[in-house]
Amino acid sequence: MDKDCEKVWTECLAVIRDNISPNSFNTWFAPIKPIRLKDSVLTLQVPSQFFYEWLEEHYIDLLKRTIKKEIGLKGRLEYSIIMDSSHHANHSKPYTVHAPTLNKKALKNPPISIPIDLNKNKDQGKGRSIPNPFIIPGLKKINIHPQLIESYNFDNFVQGDCNRLARSAGMAVGQNPGKTSFNPLLIYSANGLGKTHLVHAIGIEVKNLYPEKTVLYVTAEQFTNQFIDSIRNDNMNDFVHFYQMIDLLIVDDIHCLAGKPKTQDVFFHLFNHLHQNGKQIIITSDTPPVEMSGIEPRLLSRFKWGLSADLQKPDFETRMAILEKKIRNDGVEMPREVLELISAKITTSIREMEGALISILAQASMNKKDITPELAANVIDKFVKHIPKEVTIDYIQKTVCQYFDIPIEKLKSKSRKRETVQARQLAMYFSKQHTKASLAVIGSKCGNKDHATVLHACKTIKNLIDTDKRFKKYVEDINKIIKIK
Ligand code: ADP
Ligand code: MG
Repeated sequence: MDKDCEKVWTECLAVIRDNISPNSFNTWFAPIKPIRLKDSVLTLQVPSQFFYEWLEEHYIDLLKRTIKKEIGLKGRLEYSIIMDSSHHANHSKPYTVHAPTLNKKALKNPPISIPIDLNKNKDQGKGRSIPNPFIIPGLKKINIHPQLIESYNFDNFVQGDCNRLARSAGMAVGQNPGKTSFNPLLIYSANGLGKTHLVHAIGIEVKNLYPEKTVLYVTAEQFTNQFIDSIRNDNMNDFVHFYQMIDLLIVDDIHCLAGKPKTQDVFFHLFNHLHQNGKQIIITSDTPPVEMSGIEPRLLSRFKWGLSADLQKPDFETRMAILEKKIRNDGVEMPREVLELISAKITTSIREMEGALISILAQASMNKKDITPELAANVIDKFVKHIPKEVTIDYIQKTVCQYFDIPIEKLKSKSRKRETVQARQLAMYFSKQHTKASLAVIGSKCGNKDHATVLHACKTIKNLIDTDKRFKKYVEDINKIIKIK
């Protein structure tokens, strides 16, 4: 019996792993222990109440689907929560919660016992949910499920200088799909800066304002797979027909079509059909159209018809606003200092920022610790280490010059003005500390000096740190800036 339980959970984990990021998997699923499988009830041990609530709140659908798949329609899930011994000295036994449910009130007072019906589907009563419906004959337009994620709405999309154009263009399209000159609307950016969120928000806006319109979100990869399946199943007509019914088509990560000429071909014709019929197309990409490689020129030229707008890295204020919104939405509390720490250290990806936030919550919960700046710093350090970042001599020079407000050309010149000499020496000192460059290379980049000059500079700076308090403070400040790159 117990063996079955392990086996079933291992199979569940395999499915779950395919559906979420490795980070989320390690944080939320790796610590779970399966302890029992009896009468189709699978009992999982989780480290804390918080952990259980988080699973329920964020992974309920995935868990439902997986359990149903592995155990069958009668499958149920129960959690066994390890009690916090510091608060409940007399309860060494774990208590059990029957779940998942989405009843948040009940969550506050566990243990509760509400069996879930895995057959029940959120969309029941609203018409059937059909993720891949083109294979169903006689399909009615109204039944197409838009595949939108509810929380990716405009309310939750924080506005900042980094996304002003993209966001307002998105709003305009959401209010008047197919009627603006932003057709197609192309949103591009590096990873984790909000493309997927923004295009969902547009879809949700359209659904809210025009419930009768058919909206569909797909990733370019899903589109490709559906196309390949349709060839294999000999129903390409159904595939094409299905997509021609859409009023707002959102294709995420279009760069994934690179090097797939057949899929590009079918998308090209679909694009033309939709565009000619006044339907709205939204695509996202990791590069601007001019830099896209592996995409047929005729398709590329279509992408340039409408508007391309990019999402930039958010500034510090926007990063703070995003984190604040996030914790408010999740109903958790966190000291402002901790949020500042995350915003200061993680600057290149909102997804990574959220990852760090979630890891901090998880760490605090699993180890039953308060969320302090120390704990946060620890987690963030580990987090940031996984993002290889190179501190270069150029970057150091820029940082030092910005700090003292002197032009970088001066530092690279032969100028012997006192402040320039000092900045140059500092750049040498930090380059020695933070890069693997040789003294000769450092010298050549800092005013064409030789290695002995660099060595001398390092000694001078060390002396000054030991003797001059104000100077020491400069060095610490600059060090902080260099390290949070
Ligand atoms: P991309 O598709 O560009 O890789 P995502 O849309 O998946 O990025 O965004 C990554 C995460 O960051 C998501 O959880 C998203 O909700 C969040 N996010 C991105 N931009 C914003 C924003 N402006 N306001 C709030 N959250 C954001
Ligand atoms: Mg995305």
